[in-house]
Amino acid sequence: MSLIVQKFGGSSVKDAERIKNVARIIAETYLKGNDVIVVLSAQGDTTDDLIAKAGEINPHASKREMDMLLSTGEQISVALCAMALEVMGLPVVSLAAWQVGIQSSGVHSDARIRRIDSERVQAELDQHRIVIVTGFQGVDRSGDVTTLGRGGSDTSAVALAAAFRADLCQIFTDVDGVYTTDPRLVPNARKLDEITYDEMLELASQGAQVLHNRSVELAKKFKVNLEVVSSLERKPGTKVKEVTKMMEKTNIAGVAKDTSIARIALVGLQHNPGVAFQVFDLLSKHNINVDVILQSIGREETKDITFTIHKKDQEEAETILNEHRAALRFDHIEADDKIGKVSIVGAGLMSNCGVAAKMFEALYEAGINIQMINTSEIRVSVLLDEEDVNRAVKAIHAKFFDEI
Ligand code: ADP
Ligand code: ASP
Ligand code: MG
Repeated sequence: MSLIVQKFGGSSVKDAERIKNVARIIAETYLKGNDVIVVLSAQGDTTDDLIAKAGEINPHASKREMDMLLSTGEQISVALCAMALEVMGLPVVSLAAWQVGIQSSGVHSDARIRRIDSERVQAELDQHRIVIVTGFQGVDRSGDVTTLGRGGSDTSAVALAAAFRADLCQIFTDVDGVYTTDPRLVPNARKLDEITYDEMLELASQGAQVLHNRSVELAKKFKVNLEVVSSLERKPGTKVKEVTKMMEKTNIAGVAKDTSIARIALVGLQHNPGVAFQVFDLLSKHNINVDVILQSIGREETKDITFTIHKKDQEEAETILNEHRAALRFDHIEADDKIGKVSIVGAGLMSNCGVAAKMFEALYEAGINIQMINTSEIRVSVLLDEEDVNRAVKAIHAKFFDEI
């Protein structure tokens, strides 16, 4: 007997038919003699619809109240799915995160899971019940509901798999695995049989929506046996693991894009020690994550610092920086939210010197201008005009995969 965690995303539970389909998959797993913990997302576009509803009443609603609202989407799914399993005569219980004891930090809309209490879920498993848990949420020290960030149900699933030492964590979604790029943008993208945690983490962090990046981080840390599979077709998906068969790869694993970013430039900063520290310390104290950073020596003893953040943080970042303008002594802020980032990811990338050049060649041939470049051991990212992003993904993907 194994313990299996199965997570189903929004499109997999979007209506009654899809919920019945999910119930059949769960039932099949359970009837084979496995213990099953299920994690569900909100149905279809529910989370977006709830955000729009809030906007009609208060476009500047507090993050706490937004979390109260958004967490309801997942509660609907788990109750409906439990009802579908009841019809099939199977023992089942649905639980919200606060009932499980998924304890989180108190950062509303971007909370981290701190620990998961095992008693309630274990007691239900001991009674041979299927346990269905709300994804995307936790409860903080004061008992308030928090959410984990968009796409966070994947992280709930992997955290439960780690906490209960599950034999397998399956992420069911509307594609049948991880592809070399988003198959909706590039129809001839290839499905990967397997991918390393590190490559998947970079792809997810650079915008490949198929897995929430923190779910991959947790899977790596706790060695969770993770796979991405389709909820609509029965066929093998993609396994995410420590090492893959092709250890000395010459090609990249994939291409990712991210258009949810904004660029901020602080122009005319003093060229003194401690300036970068002051700027980024200030942003981190407000829980604003910074990604690509570039510093340039400017004119007359001054310098510019340019960085990217998530679009949702842009207004807050500009306000905070302007409030501290006297202390930070910069001349002015230039902000741009019409940008995007395209990245290539591959384990052997930095030791294959031609790879970055090949990416830049693809962009040159497509007549696309690069604004900033950023690299890690296994990734090269370029910042571009937002309107060039899709074209860039297609050109780079074709360069690396059409010629093999
Ligand atoms: P769910 O609702 O199941 O959580 P998501 O919409 O969050 O599903 O993620 C699945 C989507 O991720 C796919 O429909 C696909 O368009 C997108 N995607 C982006 N990059 C990739 C990739 N490299 N491989 C597979 N899917 C990708
Ligand atoms: N329902 C949440 C969202 O739409 C969480 C998730 O789907 O993973 O972001
Ligand atoms: Mg998702």
